[in-house]
Amino acid sequence: MPLFYFQTFGCQMNVADSEQIRKKLMMRGFKPSLSPDKADIIVVNTCSVRENAEIRARVKIGEFAKSKKENASLWVIGCMAERLGDKLKRIIPEIDLVIGAKRIDEIDGIIEKQLPGCVCSKLPETESNVTDFVPVMRGCNNYCTYCIVPYVRGPEHSIPVGEIENVIREKVTNGVKEITLLGQNVNSYNDHETDFPDLLYKIANIKGLERIRFTTSHPKDCNEKLIRAIAEIPKMSRHVHLPVQAGSDKILKMMNRNYESFQYLELVDMIKKYLPDADITTDIMVGFPGETDKDFRETLQLVKQVRYTTAFMFAYSVREGTEAASMVDNVPKEIKISRLNELINLQTSITKEIYSNVVGKECEVLITGQQKKRDRFWMGQDKGCKKVLVSCNSIKAGMILKVRAVRSSGMTLICERIV
Ligand code: SF4
Repeated sequence: MPLFYFQTFGCQMNVADSEQIRKKLMMRGFKPSLSPDKADIIVVNTCSVRENAEIRARVKIGEFAKSKKENASLWVIGCMAERLGDKLKRIIPEIDLVIGAKRIDEIDGIIEKQLPGCVCSKLPETESNVTDFVPVMRGCNNYCTYCIVPYVRGPEHSIPVGEIENVIREKVTNGVKEITLLGQNVNSYNDHETDFPDLLYKIANIKGLERIRFTTSHPKDCNEKLIRAIAEIPKMSRHVHLPVQAGSDKILKMMNRNYESFQYLELVDMIKKYLPDADITTDIMVGFPGETDKDFRETLQLVKQVRYTTAFMFAYSVREGTEAASMVDNVPKEIKISRLNELINLQTSITKEIYSNVVGKECEVLITGQQKKRDRFWMGQDKGCKKVLVSCNSIKAGMILKVRAVRSSGMTLICERIV
């Protein structure tokens, strides 16, 4: 039986795309291989968001090129494949196929061409996850000046509601309890008849689906209708990921984020009004060109005001091909690192406080699996974004349990079962 091996870098959209291609290969009789050296097809799904992600992918592709068995095919897909195209084949001649992110929708035809004569059958029965991703839109029209995504993923397009519902129904039939709706700019979803809040109301009607999440949203497309939908739909997680990127209006303008900090804070107030128990999380970048100490202090101030549960924090790095690449990258590396450390320290202390404030309280947890190292602990997630460990016998993945948090270990709640 032919074997495949996957290496996926980057965001959840890449994880979802890899999963889709894995299924298509399995329908053609392929099986997953634990080792790349034994695989007949090696697929590397790449990310272009930061230079570091591209470097790591290139190193991995180079390793696979050397170690792959004779006649094995090496496919490189995703954002770096889109950005560099066939140039990649010139750098690493062992690459057999390059599929850019904009062509992922054509993957059926591409696989057909690559594997002629492979008979397609029903997907073999596999153990499915309790949680899964479902892309609902792709691409981005926002052109934040630091970001390569609109160039490598192309303009926004939304998948029709009916298609999304069918995909979710199939997943639920296979045991999925929670889905995360994905899009580069998910809340700008619009298939000409249905906008994002209405999509949530429709999906919530799917029987057997217990929880709905979404990521990643843009503040300019977050409005009262969306926040009200999250509050009104019991299946919605109480978690809003709202990337702010910076607290300084000058920097937000240079980033082309299309909002000012006061508008962002108004949104946060609205979320707290409708969803007082919600986790709010964010993405923040420090060291953008022209960022002064005053600008950075404004970011810290905003973080203190919002009190995010967690945040993805990183230092600006130039992406060739973006508008910001033509700006002078004038914040020295050591200042970027020291600002990043200061921000991480602040956010870590807020995260710890938020987690420890939950100790003693009850919450509802979706159990996702057993912890490998300590098998008396089961892993799960509360209705927000908090990771939970439950020590208990006779439970299994997919159950929704009422638990009480007895301890916090910083970024995880240790809980006991109530019912
Ligand atoms: S919204 Fe901005 S940061 Fe997000 S994908 Fe689009 S351009 Fe990139």
